[in-house]
Amino acid sequence: MIPRPSQTLTSIDYVAELLRKAKHAVVLTGAGISTPSGIPDFRSEGTGLWSRDEPMEVASLNTFRTDPERFFIWFRPLASLIFNAIPNPAHIALAKLEKANRIHGIITQNIDGLHHKAGSNNVIEMHGTLRTLSCTQCFQKAQAEKYLKSFVEKGELPRCSECGGLMKPDAILFGEQLPQNAWYAAQRDSRQCDLMLVAGSSLEVLPVAGLPMQAIDRGAHLVILNNTATYLNVRADVTIQEDVAEIIPAIAEQVLDG
Ligand SMILES: [Zn+2]
Repeated sequence: MIPRPSQTLTSIDYVAELLRKAKHAVVLTGAGISTPSGIPDFRSEGTGLWSRDEPMEVASLNTFRTDPERFFIWFRPLASLIFNAIPNPAHIALAKLEKANRIHGIITQNIDGLHHKAGSNNVIEMHGTLRTLSCTQCFQKAQAEKYLKSFVEKGELPRCSECGGLMKPDAILFGEQLPQNAWYAAQRDSRQCDLMLVAGSSLEVLPVAGLPMQAIDRGAHLVILNNTATYLNVRADVTIQEDVAEIIPAIAEQVLDG
């Protein structure tokens, strides 16, 4: 008798098959893909480092405008973690799949830039990014590295080299609109894709959480890889509730060898 493969192995095969057949596969990633890189989900409660302060309040546009010192005190340990973080095997596997033309691109809820660090090119950052900063006075954009090293090390607030204005990280704060271009691009991708793979998102933060619905309403396949169940698990072709840093590389290996 042939031993029956475990449920997970069968699911990995099935996801690999869907990816091989897809003409326009899109991946939607959330905080869960970066937790194996040591970045806690700062939006959820009780995640240690930031539970002293209520992120909804301190990481808001209002606090940034009225009390930037307080915002930057809160932001400093997060900035430090993110700038020192390295992509994990899930980020790297997705970058390989893009290079091999197996996925069209990534829509991410993360601001950590780890998909870029891993080598992904087509990344839509729905909640903005910490890779760049913009001046609040003259709107000059600058690479974050240049400023954030001295901020992380010495606590110096980032100031514009042109006008001296305060620089704001390009991450979307609470109370701030989502970047419109990113939102349009993500909607277009969700409507055009024939496979959406959700990885490490609990699909709890709107409006991004509604994107997979747009995909399946137009007949796309849906795969959900997340360590907890989401509201769309019942509509998915395949769900795997395990560590994405193990599952995604296993899937990529199947796709790229197959
Ligand atoms: Zn400026």
